[in-house]
Amino acid sequence: MHPLYLYNTLSRRKEEFSPLVPGKVGMYTCGPTVYQYATIGNMRSYVFADVLRRVLEYNGLSVKMVMNITDVGHLVSDADEGEDKMLVAVGREKKTPWEIARYYTGAFMKDAALLNIKRPSVVSPATEHIEEMLEMVVELVEKGYAYETGDGIYYDISKFPSYGQLSGTRLEEQLAGARVQENPDKKHHADFALWKKAPKEHIMQWESPWGMGYPGWHIECSAMARKYLGDRFDIHTGGVDHIPIHHENEIAQSQSCTGEVPARFWMHGEFLLVDGGKMSKSLGNTYTVDDLVAKGFEPLAFRYFCFSAHYRSHLNFTWPALESAQSGLRSLRTIIQKSSKDPAKAGAQEKAERFRASFLEAVNDDLNMPRAVAVLWDAAKADLGPWLARLADDFDRVLALDLLKGATREDKVLALSELPPEALAILEERRLAREAKDWVKSDRLREELKAMGFAVKDTKGGYEVTRIPRQD
Ligand code: AMP
Ligand code: ZN
Repeated sequence: MHPLYLYNTLSRRKEEFSPLVPGKVGMYTCGPTVYQYATIGNMRSYVFADVLRRVLEYNGLSVKMVMNITDVGHLVSDADEGEDKMLVAVGREKKTPWEIARYYTGAFMKDAALLNIKRPSVVSPATEHIEEMLEMVVELVEKGYAYETGDGIYYDISKFPSYGQLSGTRLEEQLAGARVQENPDKKHHADFALWKKAPKEHIMQWESPWGMGYPGWHIECSAMARKYLGDRFDIHTGGVDHIPIHHENEIAQSQSCTGEVPARFWMHGEFLLVDGGKMSKSLGNTYTVDDLVAKGFEPLAFRYFCFSAHYRSHLNFTWPALESAQSGLRSLRTIIQKSSKDPAKAGAQEKAERFRASFLEAVNDDLNMPRAVAVLWDAAKADLGPWLARLADDFDRVLALDLLKGATREDKVLALSELPPEALAILEERRLAREAKDWVKSDRLREELKAMGFAVKDTKGGYEVTRIPRQD
């Protein structure tokens, strides 16, 4: 048996994991803001959380995973600055905030399903938990951790001496920091809004002891985690960008109410880069799962690609890298599926057991997925016969790459009726060129088909056409 080690941002080291209640894990994952499509960067974070959940389950634990949906109160900057993201979307799309939230929640769920991300046990929209948030804000005010200003209720970080424990910044530094164009009513620049008073024209607003208003973003997660997982639970996850502000603030709020840091383990996924840099709207590289599909990739190629780096390392997305991930995944599937029809091999079961142990060791070493995938490749090359398929089926509980499912749509040999007329015309021209043994022309026509997204393979009876992923 290999114990499970997870890196805890709070202690800055790998720790052996065992749940607070034997056999059961409570896990909270900061969910998406639903005012736009999720990027593949966002999805990398959720693939990480999904792998964590699956590894816990692979270790025989039952997991209650809670994920919020941020459908209110998220400003452009994490630190209470900039515009309200929902207002930006309302202006852009001429829809109500509720319509926008519903639409993008659905889009997120679809992307998650395409990436074989399991649905969390609880998916909780912020707008359905305003009461729980208000209760916590009132508690914080009553206990003296918060103060009222002209525009809202703010958490007073000077009242929380351990503020900064997650990111390792000292409270004095936080208190000293000041920036221009800041809210002059705040006591310290790092104080953050628990509740905002809403101007009349603000679209989403609720009654509160301070008049109409809406919640801050951070209180959302504290309130929902407390409601569904209690004052103390096992694991809290998010992206590395959450460490210095969002999770620091969550800890401050929750601990001020309950006396305890809410989660024992805090785990953070590192960012996905695109072409070596940050994804950004202005560079036009904020790709979505739909963009990958539109170029002919299957979504699981992206999941497989995510496993090429450890979750605490940067991962650099490029189209050629995705292309090679897709062909790697498909080769694996082909080897695995073929092996299930092979005759049994002597000694294969013992070898398979050793691979299983190595796989468990890899995933239990703080989710070392590059190593786990390497174990699968080693197994694929080890002549295990039908044991390879059994092993892959077992590993797929964590990998979730559909290793044993039939060929994917893109692998499929296309019927002529599925091809556009231009391609059919070129194929016919090529057939004639080959009959005339004009190999140069035949190759040129193959290239033309390739440019249209089709691969042609010559067979005894004629040819087979499959789709190839585009990359540009
Ligand atoms: P948001 O919807 O903007 O709140 O982001 C949802 C999740 O995606 C958060 O956990 C972020 O930390 C994470 N995230 C944002 N950008 C990236 C990125 N480039 N790579 C990985 N995760 C990201
Ligand atoms: Zn959160």
